[in-house]
Amino acid sequence: MKNFTVITLGCPKNTVDSRHLINELTAEGFLYVEEFKKADFVFINTCCFINDAKEESIDEILTAAKFKTDRLLIVFGCLSKRYGDELKKEIPEIDALFGVDETGKILNYMKQFKEYSGKKLQEFQYTAEPPTYRYIKIAEGCSRRCSFCIIPEVRGPFRSIEPEKILKEAEKFISSGIKELILVAQDITQYGKDLKGYGLPELLKDLCSISGDFWVRLLYLYPTEIDEAIIQTVAENDKIVKYLDIPMQHSEERILRLMGRRGTRKDYLKKIRQIREAIPGVTLRSTFIVGFPTETEDEFQRLVDFIEELQFDRLGVFKYSREEGTKAYSLKGQIPESVKNRRFDEIMKRQALISLEKNRALVGKNFDALIDYVDADMAMARLYCHAPEIDGVVILENVSNLKAGEKLKLLITEAYEYDLKGVIVS
Ligand code: SF4
Repeated sequence: MKNFTVITLGCPKNTVDSRHLINELTAEGFLYVEEFKKADFVFINTCCFINDAKEESIDEILTAAKFKTDRLLIVFGCLSKRYGDELKKEIPEIDALFGVDETGKILNYMKQFKEYSGKKLQEFQYTAEPPTYRYIKIAEGCSRRCSFCIIPEVRGPFRSIEPEKILKEAEKFISSGIKELILVAQDITQYGKDLKGYGLPELLKDLCSISGDFWVRLLYLYPTEIDEAIIQTVAENDKIVKYLDIPMQHSEERILRLMGRRGTRKDYLKKIRQIREAIPGVTLRSTFIVGFPTETEDEFQRLVDFIEELQFDRLGVFKYSREEGTKAYSLKGQIPESVKNRRFDEIMKRQALISLEKNRALVGKNFDALIDYVDADMAMARLYCHAPEIDGVVILENVSNLKAGEKLKLLITEAYEYDLKGVIVS
């Protein structure tokens, strides 16, 4: 028994954890395979962020259990950390359960298998990840206490990953041909708060000093913690794409306080103005929750006005999901699903118009683009304003001889709500 596969659910942070596990197991002599049916060990990296994510993870475990035969089923990640006992009881086909950040324990567990070779192999490139970009996790956990969120409970307090480790990983990716590094953490503005005199701006500058032609993208910045130094660093470094993902969750002070979030509508407006002034052409993405307990119709309408006023380039909207073990779970005034659905649809409809308008403004302009995917005579590319797996793409038709990972100049020719079409200029 030697072959293993990893099924990854949830956020990019899980993608990074799966990659580390694959590298460690490969270095120990196990062989990574993509196909489930060729695997002797099936690892499932689970998520429990909201109910939908939990269900998806459970479905995946049940499917794997159904086709288990004589392979071993090993579950790890957020869901198993939180509901380990229940999972073991309800799904006896699971052979082993691990939590978050337990690669060491998994490796120990794997050593018991007879065929384990113990031979160090070459480090393995995780083929399930695309050839153009890599997520780099710069911190673990979260020390905030947003009342709707279970993450701090599951992933523990915020811990920055040492800069040397991050830079080494980044160098390795760039030298292997990766064209975009995407920095992730629950809140990247906190980076370095537990290190002496080294924060996000310093890390960004060090990353940008790695030689090579690549982009750096930043995901998840807490709105009130984006300071002058971060803004200036993004503005001044060409390698950092002018794209910021700033989850705000709401605009109304009463709801923000109930959510345990910092800042006010006024603070957020001011911050966005400051960012747009300092970084011309910046693409801004945010996420909001509708139907948080006690949210009134008036508060919801003010949130809609706020979104209209700020004209985000990208917007993620979530219907509040009641999570056991969170403070908001026991709040009185839970909102009926039908109301959440209506509020969700209303925002999405308005945002679709904003997005179409923003996309139309790109038509006729030239941009640097990164080719992510090539198939027969078409290809998909991304501009600085597109985060992979989250935003749209640029579709290129009737093309030939393109390779994933190539950087080109494109002219945008057509715009839709989500995607764009373009042609190659050079
Ligand atoms: S900042 Fe808030 S929402 Fe984000 S992970 Fe931390 S507690 Fe959860």
